[in-house]
Amino acid sequence: MTEKTDVTEQTSGSREERFQHWYLGSLGPHLRPVLAIALLASVLAMFVHALLFPAEIWLGSLFFIGGFISVPLLLALVGTQVQISRQHVTNFSTAICLSALFGVNGVLAWSYSHAYDMPYEGVLAITVCIGMFSTLPLRRVLPITIFGSLMFAGVKVQYSMDPALIILVQVFFVLFFSAISCLIAYLVQQFFRSEYRRQQALRQLSETDPLTDLLNRRGFETRYGLANRSALRNGKMLGLILVDVDHFKAFNDNYGHDAGDNALVAIAEVLEQYARRPFDACARLGGEEFCLLLHDLDMKALQNIGQAVCHAVAHLKIPHAHSSAGRVLTVSMGITGISPGTPFQSAYRTADRALYEAKDKGRNRWVWLSNDSKSGAGVKAAQ
Ligand code: GH3
Ligand code: MG
Ligand code: MG
Repeated sequence: MTEKTDVTEQTSGSREERFQHWYLGSLGPHLRPVLAIALLASVLAMFVHALLFPAEIWLGSLFFIGGFISVPLLLALVGTQVQISRQHVTNFSTAICLSALFGVNGVLAWSYSHAYDMPYEGVLAITVCIGMFSTLPLRRVLPITIFGSLMFAGVKVQYSMDPALIILVQVFFVLFFSAISCLIAYLVQQFFRSEYRRQQALRQLSETDPLTDLLNRRGFETRYGLANRSALRNGKMLGLILVDVDHFKAFNDNYGHDAGDNALVAIAEVLEQYARRPFDACARLGGEEFCLLLHDLDMKALQNIGQAVCHAVAHLKIPHAHSSAGRVLTVSMGITGISPGTPFQSAYRTADRALYEAKDKGRNRWVWLSNDSKSGAGVKAAQ
């Protein structure tokens, strides 16, 4: 069997890329309040500095906190309203983290160089927030926080009057909080990774037919929607082939339900050979009814596939002594071409009418019906 269909928002790219896409997509809406609170906190910090420190120190705070923390956060808040690619979100977030670290270390450097002993807890707070809220993976948080720690050590050594031991202890604390930040970033992503896997597994279960491993009706309709959108973008036609096993009730009644199940699995394996391209799909819609969705094929090509499926199923040579259509198990098919944008129900109705005609004409054959009701029919495949 071919790989089971994995329908996510993003259907291309590696598994990691799909996860990152989903992860940022699901975090996106929750980021706005976090950014707003962080922005508020940075403005509050400037007010507190204005209350506690002399004007020359406060001016430095205004420049570094306002310019390197508040403004980027404000831009990010505005950015959440704009559709940008997920890769840009990651780079943007990295830039904001680096800018915030630069801002908070800038305040310290400014204060120390004006002989003012500014508390360094802001560095710790920002370091932890990076792990918690940046949405960045560990491989980004680690270098960012190491960079922040080095910047802090540099500022302390260059501008602070503190004795070496105090500087060492403070650098140790910043490094310690960097480690905590990395751990948080790792745990957050691990949590979302397992949530993603759980959701994928659930989706797979809810969209897969357990007997044949093909898509079920729900999965097929999802795939139809994706293929239809792609067809609309590219102006390509889609083809729908509705397949129904002939006299399957009589087959079950005479050969048993297990033999019926095995026959369905064998037919499913034949059908999925014809749906191998990215927007093609093959499904068991229910009972002994299957469906093929084929992308970018003209009427002739679809009819050829209908004919080939007829032959391939008959070629399985599953004996059926109680069929009016032949001595082996056979299928009938309704085929239709779908112009981009056609809803599934409408395409299905046309294919179903064609299938009904194929049954009516004696089974073991295909009938083509276009949306404007022009029809054509294929000859019997096997006796
Ligand atoms: P027609 O040629 O007109 O399509 O006749 P048919 O007998 O194939 O159609 P009908 O709808 O009368 O019967 C469908 C049968 O399919 C009834 C049921 O026994 C069988 N069936 C449905 N689902 C399954 C399944 O999962 N396994 C098995 N073994 N049989 C199934
Ligand atoms: Mg049938
Ligand atoms: Mg049927």
